[in-house]
This record gives sequence, structure tokens and C-alpha cells, in this order.
Amino acid sequence: MHQLTKTDYIQYINCPESLWLLKNRPSEFTKGEFSLFLEKLIKEGYEVEEYAKLLFPIGLDLPENSTPQYTKQQLNAKHKVLFQPSFLNQKGVFARIDVLEKLSDNTYHIYEIKSASSVKKETLQDACFQKYVLQECGYTVSKVSIIHLNKDYRKQGVIQPKELLEIVDITEQINQMYSSIVNEINAASNFINKESINENECSSRYKTRTNHCDSFNYFNKDVPEYSIYEIARISAKKIKQLVDDNHLGILDIPLDFELSTIQQAQVESVRKELVLINKPIIEKTLNSLQFPLHFIDYETFPTAIPKIDNMGPHNHLVFQVSIHTMQENGELTHFEWLGDKLEQPTAMLKKMQEFTGLTGTFISWNAPFEMSRNKDMLVWIPQFSNFLNYMNMHMFDLMTLFKTDYVDYRFHGSTSIKKVLPVLCPQFSYSNLEVQDGTMALDIWGRMVNDPDFKGDRDTTRKNLLAYCKLDTLAMVEIYKKLLLF
Ligand code: SF4
Repeated sequence: MHQLTKTDYIQYINCPESLWLLKNRPSEFTKGEFSLFLEKLIKEGYEVEEYAKLLFPIGLDLPENSTPQYTKQQLNAKHKVLFQPSFLNQKGVFARIDVLEKLSDNTYHIYEIKSASSVKKETLQDACFQKYVLQECGYTVSKVSIIHLNKDYRKQGVIQPKELLEIVDITEQINQMYSSIVNEINAASNFINKESINENECSSRYKTRTNHCDSFNYFNKDVPEYSIYEIARISAKKIKQLVDDNHLGILDIPLDFELSTIQQAQVESVRKELVLINKPIIEKTLNSLQFPLHFIDYETFPTAIPKIDNMGPHNHLVFQVSIHTMQENGELTHFEWLGDKLEQPTAMLKKMQEFTGLTGTFISWNAPFEMSRNKDMLVWIPQFSNFLNYMNMHMFDLMTLFKTDYVDYRFHGSTSIKKVLPVLCPQFSYSNLEVQDGTMALDIWGRMVNDPDFKGDRDTTRKNLLAYCKLDTLAMVEIYKKLLLF
């Protein structure tokens, strides 16, 4: 019999098929390209837990991976607050509770700790799961609470757990949803123990690409390259019509099927293997940019627990910038800055301002990200408000041209620079770099400046980080130059 944990149950709610695959054919289950990111989230979760434990000075920390039998012994020994007690019911449903408090009437209060800063639906579902297992094991749960980060918290000196965290009583909500969650848990437990399921399709066949997980291809082997899921902003309703008529590939879409102008262009690009370029608009847009052009890219380090004074939960610290500046005559200069400790990038802004001045146009890829960082820095480093405001008022997003005016079937419906660059400028590639994306960059930088056990060579790490960010802005320069040629 397969055991069902809280994480399994949440996965079951999102997708029963992928959980079945994980339990029954683990070698076929794809872990996913975000595992580094997930690892970071898990580490942050542990960090929040450590602060939450400080709210319970009499709590007893059970050893990592301690068994339900050990929990029982500790409960019998009359400890009032346990961290990480575990419970297993007879159907193989397992729960490890973050904090369990025994109340004076011999009932129990469950606390679940979250690194989010609000109570989400998923949080309620998993707290309900915990209550179910405890009750099944013969304990009465009279209260359930969530401990999460206080979104209004701003660090000032030493972090006080009572200010950093908020305790929200969710007993009422849990009582209301309890019976339906119990039915779902039973269904999940039965489902993972099925000997076989239909492995030839999954329910996301009817959903848009953002809802697909890494197991989508396993369950939908008949979906061809250039599939309907790649069509930009296609609705679930349209996908359903196409799937029901067995039109899974872009090449199968009937000529009279209703699509927006942009979507039609994308379909045409695939059908004719053609690149569709709206030359007048691209020319007009590029001509409107004021020289010098500053191609800019930030790398950031977001943390659940703020590390620097004035910062709040989940704020991003800018730790690196690359700028390629192009003059009207084509002359190119480069500026880069990489922080070497957790501190506000005041020195970076000073040098950036010296390099660019308050002139010309700033160009980035997915500009709302850079603009949001500038808005944050306006609050934290107000002495640069003129410069930061100038940047945001003169920011152009190069990516927008690839949403509407430059359609190439080889982008597979994506406007990511990682997809566009190799098609337009195949001589440039991220594949030879040690650091290949933003998640790797923040992970390695975070370890270098924040982990006393960091084993890497600092000089090499810095070189790798600089090379990655530099390519991001050089890529924009090359794409810009390519657009001028059309
Ligand atoms: S894509 Fe398929 S397998 Fe993946 S989560 Fe969705 S339904 Fe499940």
C-alpha cells in the first residue's frame, strides 16, 4: 500500500495522474526544471519554521524523521507543545504537524507554518489534511491556526518573531470544509493504489500551457511538435473545441477556425515555415528610442525572511547589473557590477548613474521586472530617486515587439530571450555558460555570500555570474541590431 502524505494530497488535488505516476512509475516521473527554485523555497520554509518555534518557548523539538510511535511516547510523557510530531492512520495516511499544542481540556491545537504572507486555499486544504490524520489517530483537534509571514513587517535590527509572524485562527473554515476534504483524501488514497490508470491522456489536455506539468508529454504522447498549446494566449474554450475534434497540432487547425490576428499570424508562420515581420511598426518603434540606448538587466535575490533593514518578506535585493550602452554611431560600452555581500546596492546605483547619466532610453527584456526593482529601490535608497524615476520613465521593453510584430514559428509561441536569441543570433548561446538562468544565478550568489559552508571558488563564481548577466544585455544589443536589418 502506498503512503499518502500532505504533499501527495496537494499534488493529487492539482493532478491525480501525475501523483499516480510518481507513486507507481517513479522512473517515468519528471522532477521538473524548477527543482533549484523549489529547493530554495524549502530552505526558506525551514528558516520561517525556526522563527515560528521561538513563539513557543516550552516546545519540544522531535528529532528529524522521528516516527509516529516516538510521537506517541512524547505525548504520553505530557509535553504540552511538540514540534514536528508525526501520525499515521490505518489507511496509510501520514501527517507531520509543524506545531502541536495540548490544551487544558485535553484537546489539541494544530499550527501550520507557511512562508507565504496570506492564507491561501491550498493552505486550508493541507491544514485540514493534518486535522483529519490526527482525528483518525484518536486525538480531538479543537483549534487550527496558520502561522505566516506578516506582509507589513519591515526589518529593523534583530528580527522579533512576534512582529515577523502572524497567527491566524482558521478553525471555522476548516470545520466547514472538513467532510469534503475527507472524501478527497479517501479518493486520493484509493487512486494511488490503483494498479493501472489511463496513461494515454490527462485532464490538462483541455487546459492552457501554463497548467501543464513536466509529465504532460508522458500522458499525451500524441501531441505533436508545434501543438495548439503553443498558440499565444489561446483560451481553454478554444483548446477544448480543437481537442474534441482531435486537432492537436497547429498544422491540423481548420482554416476557418476563429483565432485572433496575432494567433492567426502564428499559425501561418508554422504552416508556411515563414517569419512574419511587421516592418513599419518595428522601424517606427525603434526610431522613436532616444540615444544613447542603455540595455539593462538586473539579477535579484528574493528572500522570504528579510535580510536587510527596511526590507519586508519576499522583497528582491538587486545584487547585480549589466548595462551595454550604444551611442547613435553604434559605439558600444559596457558596465557591470556584482555585489559581494547582503547589502543595499547603493554603490551600484552610484556607479550606474555615473555610467549612464540621466540621458537616453533604458531597454530591458520584460521591463516590468526591472521597473518594479527600481520602485523598491526608490523607497530603500531615496537619494537616487531622480535617477530611478528617470529610468522608469524612459524604459522600453524590447520583448513587446516579439508579442505582436515579429512572429517566428521557431520560438514555439514563447517570447523568452532564451528562445528568441538562438533563432535570431545562433552564434550567441547560453548553453556554454556555467550559470544559465536567473534561478541558478540567485542560488549561487546566495550561497556565495550567505552560506558559511560555501565550497566554490569565489573568483570563478563571480566570473561565471558576470558572464551570464553580460550575455543577457549583449543578447538584447544583438537582437536590436538584427531588427534594424529587416
Ligand atoms: S499536465 Fe497532466 S499530468 Fe501534468 S498536472 Fe496537468 S493533468 Fe496532471
